[in-house]
This record gives sequence, structure tokens and C-alpha cells, in this order.
Amino acid sequence: MNLAPYASNPAKSKGRIFQESKSSSRNDFQRDRDRIIHSASFRRLQYKTQVFVNHEGDMFRSRLTHSLEVSQISRAVARTLNCHEDLCEAIALAHDLGHTPFGHAGQDALNACMRNFGGFEHNLQSLRVVDVLEKKYANFDGLNLTFEVREGILKHCSKKNAQKLGDLGIRFIMNREPSLEAQIVNLADEIAYLHHDLDDGFRSGILSFEKMMELNLFEIFFKEVSNAHKLLSSEQIMHEILRLMMNSIISDLCNESFKNIKKFKPQSADNVRELKNIVCFSDEMGAHFKEFKKFSRTNLYEHHRIKEMSVRASKIIYSLFAYFYDNYNKIPESFKSEKEQSRERVIADYVAGMTDRFANNLYKDMSS
Ligand code: MG
Repeated sequence: MNLAPYASNPAKSKGRIFQESKSSSRNDFQRDRDRIIHSASFRRLQYKTQVFVNHEGDMFRSRLTHSLEVSQISRAVARTLNCHEDLCEAIALAHDLGHTPFGHAGQDALNACMRNFGGFEHNLQSLRVVDVLEKKYANFDGLNLTFEVREGILKHCSKKNAQKLGDLGIRFIMNREPSLEAQIVNLADEIAYLHHDLDDGFRSGILSFEKMMELNLFEIFFKEVSNAHKLLSSEQIMHEILRLMMNSIISDLCNESFKNIKKFKPQSADNVRELKNIVCFSDEMGAHFKEFKKFSRTNLYEHHRIKEMSVRASKIIYSLFAYFYDNYNKIPESFKSEKEQSRERVIADYVAGMTDRFANNLYKDMSS
């Protein structure tokens, strides 16, 4: 790995909450990645979804495959920018650990249940999973990850919540940026989900080529692919377009970020945190990207078929929350080990950790 001076460096890590001796064979970021991969929450990503609910079919992305795609994209960008690939990988694999079952609909419903009890936010919950909820190690709760991985997991945070987070919250209060690796994963996440949701949307029949042609970037590559190849199946055309779109977006991101690096000349990872956001798109690609997001929201996330799933998902989350409030003894004791945790927070932790499948089956059993 060819590390630039502005890259995060495990040898200069701001450390872990509980001190541990160093590993002789792995750097601290590799060690964090391994802890994440071996966690129960990571395994559960397999049966959690973002847009298409798990029972809709096996061909759609799960949060596990999404996280792997984010990891792949962010590592490729990190390599180009001479940043730390292992740190990107660890952040990417952990970034969605706090998601509820049933994607955003699930999170909104749980947040509504928690309105008077501190709310529920998936980003903060991902941090809570790695800091507290994973219980495996003899000497501490959580995975005891390095500051840099925890910083990357916490993409956004309200100032109110930031005040409770010590060192990790300071950047939200001071309006500072995180490490370059965290900035990379943040955009790799958006690049990954926009492309794979388009793909899943196409395979589900919700999005047609005709519809997607409304998207300028799609239209450009659709013409390019159809002109160059006359006998492709629609799946091949779609894949070629997605591949070219993603390549152009990632190349633009690398080029523009390099320009910023040359312009601001960050001298260290800490210096990066004091500068304005370095990892970004050119103005032109930024406009395409914005259009892409808007297109997905209007034509996919707000599509009636997705909305119907969301309504059902919300109903399940409300019912589970109410059920466990009345049947608190049915929640495993391991969720109740924190002394000052409210009953509502314990229920939220338990429900948030469920997979789509588990929540669905539980709901069916409850209603029968
Ligand atoms: Mg994500």
C-alpha cells in the first residue's frame, strides 16, 4: 500500500476506548475489519434489505451485498488516492450495521416509536452496535474499534447527540470533516446504492429502459452501448450501462478529489479534518449525481409497489414495539445489561437488530 502523508495511518491511530496489546500480524484497521466480519450484526445483514423486502425474491441486493459493494468501490478509490484501503474496508463493512429490518420504512417507524425517548437513527445505531451491543469479548462490551473506524461509521449526527459522544462528537459541533477514508466511504455508499437500486428496480419490472432514459447519464451510455452492440440481451445492455456509468462517476470522483488534494495540500490525516471536504465530484458530475438521486426517489423509492411494502413494514415495527413493551420479559437479558437504559431503548435495540425474515415471522406468529 502506497500511503500518502494525508492518509490515515494505523500506527498513528487515535486508539481504542479500552487499551489492548498490538497484534503482531495485522494492523489495527485490519483487526477492526476482522472483528466486524465476525460479529453477529454483520451476519444479519444478509437478511436485511434496503429497498426490496427480503421475501420479494432472492435476486435483490441485501445489506450484506450492498456493504460488500461499498467496500469494493471505496477500496478502489482509496488505492487511487493513496489512502488507507483497510480503513475504508472496515468502515464500509460496518456502516449499515445499525439498520432496522425493512430499510428506511423500518427506521422511520422505529424513530416514531422512540419519539419521546431520544429517537432512533440508524447511523447512531451502527455506532451503538460496535460500541455496546455486540457482546463477545471478555474484557469489554462492543468491538472496541479504533477511533478512525468509529469516526467513519458516524456519518452524520445532530449537535445534541454529538455532545454526548466525546471526541467522536466534536467534529459535528465544530463543523469539521472526517478522514479522507471516511469521506470516500460516504460517497461510495451513495454510488453503490444508486446503481444497484436502479438494477434491482429494472429487474423487478418497476423501471424500464424508456423510463431510465429520462436520466441524462443513463441516456448517454444507453446510446453508446446500443450503437456499439446490436445483439445484446436487455440484461447485458443494462449491465454494460451500469458498468460504464459507475466507471465514469468513480473516475470523476478520483480526478476531482486529486485536484482538491493538490489545491489544499493536506499534510496529515489531522490536517484533512481541518480542511473543507476534499472527496467530491466535479460540478458537472455533481449535477448528474443529483439528478440520479432525484430520479431514484421519484421513480423507485416513492413507487406505489415500494410504498405498499413500506406501509406493511411500518405496521410490523409498530406491532413488535408494542408487543415487547407489554412482554418485556421476552427480550433476551443480554439487551438489558446497561444500567441506565430505558425500557424503550432496550426494545429499540432488540427490534433494530432483527432481520426482515425474523421480524416477519414473529409478526405472523403474533397475529395468528
Ligand atoms: Mg449504505
